[in-house]
Amino acid sequence: MSRNNSLENLHPIMRAKINVLDTNLTLKKSPMRLFEGFRTPQRQHSLYSQGRTKPGAKVTNANAWSSYHQYGVACDYVLFIDGKWSWNDSGKYKKYWTDLHLMAQDVGLVPISWEKPHLQLAGLGLQTLLAGEYPDGGDDSWAENLQDAIYSWPMGAPPPPLSSQFERPALPNNIIDEQTTHPLYRVTARNGLRMRSGPGTNFDIVTTLTSHQIVQVTQKVGDWCQIDVEGDGLADGYCHSGFLVLNS
Ligand SMILES: [Zn+2]
Repeated sequence: MSRNNSLENLHPIMRAKINVLDTNLTLKKSPMRLFEGFRTPQRQHSLYSQGRTKPGAKVTNANAWSSYHQYGVACDYVLFIDGKWSWNDSGKYKKYWTDLHLMAQDVGLVPISWEKPHLQLAGLGLQTLLAGEYPDGGDDSWAENLQDAIYSWPMGAPPPPLSSQFERPALPNNIIDEQTTHPLYRVTARNGLRMRSGPGTNFDIVTTLTSHQIVQVTQKVGDWCQIDVEGDGLADGYCHSGFLVLNS
């Protein structure tokens, strides 16, 4: 579950942008280097669990498959100084982060405000990626890697234990405070579980959760559980509690 900064696992569009960005960073004598590119959903889930279902400080707001890293269209840049990675953004280092974001935007990569190293491909929606609609021009090394990630995703398998050594800094406190943590439940219905728009069978079916799928239960309403599928703290629908067990 270590980080991966190989360009081959990124989408060719991303690779091309990184090449230009790296050239521009070198010209500006910036010590920013590519720290991580593609990230497995397992690693994303593990990072997301920190500060939520596992000890430690929160380091990301995105759960598995909700980060652009899983699709090879995001990358993280970090300072590389005297052979060491550094997230230092104070004093004389501050300008390197500002420059990185400006240079990234010049080549069509978008920074996000709460994770300074993170850059993702502009003009793409997460819902589009989740629906399997990927940017044109994908080649075999990108596609096969994504396929491996999708096939090897162990729905419902418990995540591995955390290392005591965290390699990432905590998110700013104001972001953490906006997050809500809810218990994780696992779908036990063999043929999937219907999620409805309200707590009762008279409500419309929104979607069907797959067996072993992990979801957050935001609250209980009688025999029904309000479900957060995306892990973003927002309710997506309701499922009958008879087919959900605590994922411990
Ligand atoms: Zn990132």
